[in-house]
Amino acid sequence: MQLPQHTSFQPEFTISNFLKKLMVEGRLCYARCTDCGLKMIPPRPVCSRCLSSSLEWLDVPVEGKLMAFSKVHVSNETFEGFVPYIVGIGSFDDALNVPGIIKNSKIENLKI
Ligand SMILES: [Zn+2]
Repeated sequence: MQLPQHTSFQPEFTISNFLKKLMVEGRLCYARCTDCGLKMIPPRPVCSRCLSSSLEWLDVPVEGKLMAFSKVHVSNETFEGFVPYIVGIGSFDDALNVPGIIKNSKIENLKI
């Protein structure tokens, strides 16, 4: 494997900036490597496949496919106030899998 010439730390692609975009801007974003195309969520300062630091922010598509889901009845301290709740994994653009809590839905109405 040949490493890219411009491998360096990209401080913009951090968890705190990922959360800032989510909480302040209301955008769920991922980082995409412009050299190999790898999509990373949460982002990393360098590509975990080719080590390139040539990255860009993109928005996760609004629509995707539900790949898996489950109802949680016992949780840790952080989420025990929400029990029972539904968790799932959404797949977007067939390469970006995002786990999360599914709100405002009954488990009987969900389909993979
Ligand atoms: Zn890459």
